[in-house]
Amino acid sequence: MANEASRHVVIVGASLAGLRTAEELRAAGFEGAITLVGKETHLPYDRPPLSKQVLTGARSAADVTLRGQADLDQLDVQLLLGRTATSVDHECVVLDNVDAVPYSDLVVATGVAARGLANQPSSDNVHVLRTLDDSIRLRDHLSRAGSLLVVGAGFIGAEVAAVARQQGLDVTMVEALAAPFARALGTQVGARCRQLHEDHGVRIVTDARVSSFVSSASGATLRLADGTALEADCVLVGVGTTTNQHWLSGVGLAGGSGVPCDTTGRVEGHRNVFAVGDVASWQNKTFGSPHRVEHWTNAVEQAHVLAHNLLDAPPPRSNHEVPYFWSDQYRTKLQLVGRPDLADTADLVELPGRPGRLLGMYFRSSRLVAAVTFNAPAVLARLRPLVATMTNEEAARATAAELVGIAA
Ligand SMILES: Cc1cc2nc3c(=O)[nH]c(=O)nc-3n(C[C@H](O)[C@H](O)[C@H](O)COP(=O)(O)OP(=O)(O)OC[C@H]3O[C@@H](n4cnc5c(N)ncnc54)[C@H](O)[C@@H]3O)c2cc1C
Repeated sequence: MANEASRHVVIVGASLAGLRTAEELRAAGFEGAITLVGKETHLPYDRPPLSKQVLTGARSAADVTLRGQADLDQLDVQLLLGRTATSVDHECVVLDNVDAVPYSDLVVATGVAARGLANQPSSDNVHVLRTLDDSIRLRDHLSRAGSLLVVGAGFIGAEVAAVARQQGLDVTMVEALAAPFARALGTQVGARCRQLHEDHGVRIVTDARVSSFVSSASGATLRLADGTALEADCVLVGVGTTTNQHWLSGVGLAGGSGVPCDTTGRVEGHRNVFAVGDVASWQNKTFGSPHRVEHWTNAVEQAHVLAHNLLDAPPPRSNHEVPYFWSDQYRTKLQLVGRPDLADTADLVELPGRPGRLLGMYFRSSRLVAAVTFNAPAVLARLRPLVATMTNEEAARATAAELVGIAA
């Protein structure tokens, strides 16, 4: 391995995971060169506000910048914005099919892109939401629209639906599954999310199969397989994502859903290639299978672990194997730790205090694998260590009862 001062770490993806990796490397004392490449022209910015405060106008584009130019200069990182990594081999990353940038270590932090529907029309009235530019375009459209159709009842769609309702739009949410949010949260908690939106006047259509999708001058029309026609001025398609890894074919990593890594971010079979954040699928000792996580805290926690690994420093203490996520919808803060998708049973209890405080616990073979709360952050924080140790059901229920004063 090259001595440290002659090392050149090239990080592709100048967003949360890439920026945090650069910062963690410097914090750990790395004195070699760092280049951070990003295809967007904006300084690295934060995505969670894009479906929340940027849409309401409470935060501007400038407010969501993660670090200003002065901070980036101080970090001593060569920042190449508006440049796309188009290919890579074992020595160089090629930018825009032209410039080859040699690396000693490569960090893949290219995240994901919003997926559209196969028959989605290209129109100013039809949106996806992944970037700051997407958010500004959607915000401007919502400010003059009377109605919104959200295709796909995931978190981003739900947050946009909540903003639009608060701005007085008629909102319909269309979901292919029998219950909205069921995939992420299970049917019981999914039903409470549905209720939250219906209580705020959102119309929810489930079991929906889209048979045609056409735009017009004033909006778009979605026709469902059962003949229902849904029209709106503005449509948001929120049906999931695809990983940005197609440019990695030169190192054999273009296929699959996520770049496969060991438990500390080193890409399997590669000594000097690492992956972090939404694009990375890390082995997970807690839950025993590789997993890719599209959550903010995961990107931050993985960057911390990866930087130590890249520098062959002792592994730091970290919670990164137990995913944490939050979502803000209306006045509800939903928080989640762990892996509800692994559960075989789940239950939900109302918490004392103001209405709408809930705790859901998810068990697999009588072990706690996930917990979700509505408006109860302190309870959730105390449950994360219990999920990390997959505490047995009896002990988990006893702790939860102690925490919230409910019967075990
Ligand atoms: C609207 C929205 C709301 C969200 N809300 C929440 C929330 O409430 N809570 C939560 O926990 N998480 C939330 N998230 C998820 C969170 O923002 C992501 O987990 C986080 O941004 C992941 O960071 P990342 O750096 O891995 O990927 P990204 O932020 O996707 O960054 C990847 C970067 O790589 C760039 N790139 C891609 N390909 C190339 C290439 N070939 N060459 C150069 N650059 C490239 C992209 O342009 C992008 O800037 C939200 C995400 C979105 C989109």
